[in-house]
Amino acid sequence: MTSVLISGASVAGPALAYWLHRYGFDVTVVEKSGLIRGGGYPIDIRGTAVDVVERMGVLPQVRAAHIDTARISVLNGAGRTIAAFRPGDITGTRDSTDVELPRGDLTSILYARTRDDVEYVFGDSIATLDSHHDRVDVTFERGGPRSFDYVVGADGLHSNTRRLAFGPERDYHRYLGCCFAGFTAPNTGGWSHEGILQNTPGRLAAIYAVGEQPWVHAMLAFATPEPGRDATGRADLVAGAFAGLGGEVPGLLGALAGADDVYFDTVSQIRMPGWVAGRVVLVGDAAYAPSFLTGQGTSLALAGAYVLAGELRNGTPAAYEARMRDYVTRNQALADGGIGVLPRTRGQLWMRNQAFRLLPLLARADLIGRDQRRAATALVLPARQDQQDVP
Ligand SMILES: Cc1cc2nc3c(=O)[nH]c(=O)nc-3n(C[C@H](O)[C@H](O)[C@H](O)COP(=O)(O)OP(=O)(O)OC[C@H]3O[C@@H](n4cnc5c(N)ncnc54)[C@H](O)[C@@H]3O)c2cc1C
Repeated sequence: MTSVLISGASVAGPALAYWLHRYGFDVTVVEKSGLIRGGGYPIDIRGTAVDVVERMGVLPQVRAAHIDTARISVLNGAGRTIAAFRPGDITGTRDSTDVELPRGDLTSILYARTRDDVEYVFGDSIATLDSHHDRVDVTFERGGPRSFDYVVGADGLHSNTRRLAFGPERDYHRYLGCCFAGFTAPNTGGWSHEGILQNTPGRLAAIYAVGEQPWVHAMLAFATPEPGRDATGRADLVAGAFAGLGGEVPGLLGALAGADDVYFDTVSQIRMPGWVAGRVVLVGDAAYAPSFLTGQGTSLALAGAYVLAGELRNGTPAAYEARMRDYVTRNQALADGGIGVLPRTRGQLWMRNQAFRLLPLLARADLIGRDQRRAATALVLPARQDQQDVP
């Protein structure tokens, strides 16, 4: 039986584990975190990726977790509402089958689907990889050494597997010019099933109320030269970027100061010439993170896992790159075009706000969201019978 070690148990990892097990592989997943957590910020499953979760038999559970956002409100710097629309208006998918759910809920669903068939090792991480023509020898931070036929890195934007097998992150990292702090904040507005975007040039304060919870997901994103990896001074960087702004910002800065779950990162993409190095392969954000500006990271991870599993079943991961490249390129390109959530200049913000005001009209006339829709469906999945689906 061909053995595969997958590093990372978020979206790409468990999805790949599902398909590889189904194709008769012996699968182990190692996850650095100690447990699977539900909840988290909302992610999208769009276009081709909806077909993937349907083929996995988890579409009913995924749909049951759908957030069903009713409205996105756009505020000016002072906090006054200047536009409102439905999320589907901006992606050109108003009446589509796309799903939005908390990232941890998707992970929990994928984990529940695979945990009886796949070995999960939590609280550990790959320490070294030694590739040979017929196997990969692996040592772990905690567990004893083992050998596998293949190792797959599904360990996200800052992938450990990529560093070990392909070289340092800086060789593949494309900084998109902004940073963000994500955290939970008290639901002071009684918000429910809605999002709020408050912009000034180069600044975005975002609030996302998934349901009727007493807390919301908050994000403060801002344009800035690329910061170093050193974490000191980041809180000051965020506070400085938003100082003096009104509306929701003072409340969010207060919540940020008291939050115990602050997640700070750059807004970045991973761009690589290839995702296969002998018997080590990358999938999901580790290989082609598109950034949250595209809303397509989860879909790329799900579709990539499906395609990679099919190619490994065919005996080699080589064709995985050819099948995925155009889909990845189109989706990564979304970060550079369209109506941005983070316009940098006064002029860009004015233009963006005019477009947001007209969004429902533009969407109805099919004048917006076409690039997103085309990118989301750019991958044609291999036919079901080619994948030897088990009913
Ligand atoms: C704030 C924010 C908002 C986002 N919004 C959206 C959105 O609206 N729509 C959308 O589609 N996408 C969104 N994304 C992106 C989306 O979360 C990712 O594209 C998607 O989760 C990629 O899945 P993945 O499995 O490839 O990687 P990840 O979800 O990053 O998972 C990587 C996994 O690997 C584990 N890991 C890391 N290092 C190691 C190690 N050394 N050893 C073992 N395990 C390790 C991690 O703990 C994690 O479980 C957003 C991301 C962020 C940060």
